Amino acid sequence: MKIICIGRNYINHAKELGNAIPSEPLFFLKPNSAIQPKGHPFFIPFFSNDIHYEVELVIKISKAGKHIEERFAHNYYSQIGLGIDFTARDIQQECKEKGLPWEKAKGFDGSAQISRTFIDKSSLDLNNISFSLEKNSEQVQIGNSKDMCFNFETIIAYISKFYSLKIGDLIYTGTPEGVGPVKAGDKLKGFIGEQEMFKVLVR
Ligand code: ZN
Repeated sequence: MKIICIGRNYINHAKELGNAIPSEPLFFLKPNSAIQPKGHPFFIPFFSNDIHYEVELVIKISKAGKHIEERFAHNYYSQIGLGIDFTARDIQQECKEKGLPWEKAKGFDGSAQISRTFIDKSSLDLNNISFSLEKNSEQVQIGNSKDMCFNFETIIAYISKFYSLKIGDLIYTGTPEGVGPVKAGDKLKGFIGEQEMFKVLVR
């Protein structure tokens, strides 16, 4: 399986990092070794002094496809989960300034936190999914799928022009504003609506 992440999919988040709003989806990959094993703490990697959380809705691909038309894209996923795209912001900044790829800042071990449970999309209003992240019991990010620049169908259609999608692939659909740093001892909890989707301890 592969992990595909969308960048700058929420206007207010793009703005908070001083980035332009993209005219088409911007994506990058994480290796499957980035998946945080279930129940494990998140270990801050030695090479960064500025690891940020980014809470994101995650699509799980349920049918293989390539060149998927937007109007059929809903047939290619059935469940939505929640994850954190952990980012070494200092390394990412360095890569951006040098015009280098971001993978070093985005693909390290444990950088893809993913919920144990996924919610059937039939029980969600896809254009109005509210989700949030708590750090040490304080809400730090709140988002809603209605604010995405590119919706799930557009994302799937766009990515599948370049890459075949396979069953089990995960697509992180971008983070809303409010990203910030973590330090050892922090406890993070993610929610879709009121439902707790994951919790993770930072070490
Ligand atoms: Zn992200």
